[in-house]
Parts: sequence; C-alpha cells; structure tokens
Amino acid sequence: MTEQFSVNRELFDHVMVPNYSPSAVIPVRGKGSRVWDQNNNELIDFAGGIAVSCLGHCHPALVEALKTQGEKLWHLSNVMTNEPALRLAKKLVDNTFAEKVYFANSGAESNEAAFKLARRWALDVYGEHKSQIISFKQGFHGRTFFTVTVGGQEAYSDGFGPKPGDIEHAEYNNLESLEALISDNTCAVVMEPLQGEGGIVSPTQEFAEGVRALCDKHNALLIFDEVQTGVGRTGELYAYMGLGVTPDIMTTAKALGGGFPVGAMLTTNDIAKHLKIGTHGSTYGGNPLACAVAEAAFDTVNDPATLQGVKAKEAMFKQALAAVNEKYNVFKEIRGKGLLIGAVLNDDYQGRSKDFLNAAMKHGLMTLVAGASIIRFTPSLVIPDADILEGMNRFEKAVDAIVNG
Ligand code: PLP
Repeated sequence: MTEQFSVNRELFDHVMVPNYSPSAVIPVRGKGSRVWDQNNNELIDFAGGIAVSCLGHCHPALVEALKTQGEKLWHLSNVMTNEPALRLAKKLVDNTFAEKVYFANSGAESNEAAFKLARRWALDVYGEHKSQIISFKQGFHGRTFFTVTVGGQEAYSDGFGPKPGDIEHAEYNNLESLEALISDNTCAVVMEPLQGEGGIVSPTQEFAEGVRALCDKHNALLIFDEVQTGVGRTGELYAYMGLGVTPDIMTTAKALGGGFPVGAMLTTNDIAKHLKIGTHGSTYGGNPLACAVAEAAFDTVNDPATLQGVKAKEAMFKQALAAVNEKYNVFKEIRGKGLLIGAVLNDDYQGRSKDFLNAAMKHGLMTLVAGASIIRFTPSLVIPDADILEGMNRFEKAVDAIVNG
C-alpha cells in the first residue's frame, strides 16, 4: 500500500538538502503567464522560471512537441545520434554565427564545455602557457566548480577548498581593467552580453567592441554566455546580434528548452575540431525529448513577430514601472533590455528587494530579484498585454503595502 503523507512546504525541510529556501506557495499548474497553487490561488508570472519559460506555461506548440516525441523515442545516449538533435543543431547553426553545436543539459554544463574547449584549443594551438581565463566581477556562469570559479562572485565559489586555477576577474564596462590582465597567456575572455544575476547591467557598445578587439590582439577566444540573454530575451534572437559583436564560442540554455532542461555550446569549425572524439561528453546531452521541445521553442521564438513583440512588451513594462515610481518613488533606475528588466531600489529601500518580492507574492504576482537591491522581471516573451497590466496593478499594490504599510 502507498504510504499517505501531506505534500507541503514543511516536507521540503524534512526531505530536501537545505541549499534552497523556496516560498511557501507550491504551484501545481500553469497556463500562459498564470499559475495556480495547491489551494487554487492564481498568480501572474513575471519571473518565467528565471528567464526559462520563454513561451509561458504549457504553450500548445511545446506540449504538442513533448507529446509527439514522448510517444516516439525518449533517449538513446550519444552512442547514437537522433533526428530532433540534428534538426535543432541545424537550426542553431543556420541562425547564428556558429558552425558546430555541442548539446548539454543546463547553462552550467554548456559553459563547462565552452571553458574546457577554450583550454584545449589554446593548448593544441599555442601550448601550455596559454591557459588564463578572464571573466568579469559580478558575472554568473553556473554552479559547477569550474563555472562558479569563472563567475565573478566569490560568495558562491568560496568554501569548497582549492579552486580551478588561472582564472582572473576584470571589471565589467571597464576596458582598462581587462587590458591590465589580458596577455598572450590568455586563452579566453568570458562575458555575459548583459549581466543578469549580477544586477541587469548592459555593456556599453564601446566596452563590447573593446573586449572583442583585445581578444583579437592577444589571440584569445571571446566566449559569450547567452544562457540568460539568449533565445529572444533581449528582443534579438541572441544579444550578440544587437551588439554587433560576434563571439568565438557562445552558450545557450534556459529559454532554449522553454522549460525543458537543455543547453548548448556553439562555435566555429576551426575551434570545434579541438573537441575531438572522447575529449568531452554527457549521457543526456542531445536527448531527443529535450531537443524536440527545444526545436518547437526555437521555431516559435525565432519569428519576427515574437521578437518584435518583446520590444513592444519591454516598452509596456518600463512605462508601467516608471508610473509606479512616479507615484511611490522607490526606484533610482529602471534598466535592462527586452524582457530582462531590473528596477533598482533607491537609497531609502537598499537591501530590500526580497521584501518587494514577498509583498508581490502576497498580491498574486511572481517576480525575481537580482541581488539585494534590484527587482528583476523575466516574464514569458509572449505574455499577453492584459497580464502585464494586471500584473503591474498587483505590483503597485505590493509597493503601496511596503511604502505605506
Ligand atoms: N550563465 C548565466 C548567464 C546564467 O544566468 C545562469 C543561470 O542563472 C547560468 C549560466 C547557469 O545556468 P544553469 O542554472 O542552467 O546551470
């Protein structure tokens, strides 16, 4: 007989490792940009599963792809290739600078592959001295030990003993600080073409172009981590397209699967050839189920109407946030690109982004934070305008509760 027990938030504390502190609300179903919890309370989703659910919840095209592939073939391993993986790879190659694709299961794994490839390329082409990786302070690239060390937040990488070596951190939007570190020993410079976790910080055009030029000068690869910015998030298919600066390696995950775990590393033929047979791998990478869903997500996002819609919805979000600020004076800046938006709390509310998130949740709205003083919004790229307006009504009530409560 199956044992009966209550599935609630308390159970989390009993059975789960305590590395997360999830909210008390447990959603059980979603449709579009709305989600319902165990008690059938409805929430509007401005969080999108941290920039993952690019087409909202249970988008018909994704459900169809999942069901169709689910009845055909789930898994093979890389001992064999499969049709969905080949189709998705072809579309990624046809629509980006890249000529080759490696599939992974997450952002961190995609970056792990990128960093290992950069090291291997440099070793093969130039020799052992060229192993330095430079990334940027406040950057975020995942939680494996290599990727978290490349990430620019020591709070995440400290406390696990000796770290992978030869990794340095420059300041974002500060070319001189990169210039001071880069040399012919540098194998790669890694950057997000808009820092997400680090506070929704856009690169200046001059900085992005300057990083590319310094990489060229020192024969270092430029790796763009587009795990958060990719697949339509900034209103371009990939953010590098809006910047007009092309990397040598790019990683993509999160929105790539629209909620199904999948990631990819993209690069050119010349670089890809250094990841020879047996040098790297993953049991699940390129899994048919994941790639079938990702293909449907990619096709749906990679449509001029969807991408144009992101820009229109960005304007709606920013206008609505500005109107809230006009009334309550809580933000010192509203920034970001496309539907990767940050509202930076002013001096009176420093350190209180979590309070705003909790208040929004009480008023039926899911939001995110990016650090202690920034409220982050990464909704579905196709969120209906009516849901933006209703969500912003709820957000205003949450802000009112904090300011006047
Ligand atoms: N890179 C960036 C820019 C991210 O924002 C994230 C996650 O937030 C990651 C990598 C890690 O992705 P994952 O959590 O899928 O490993």
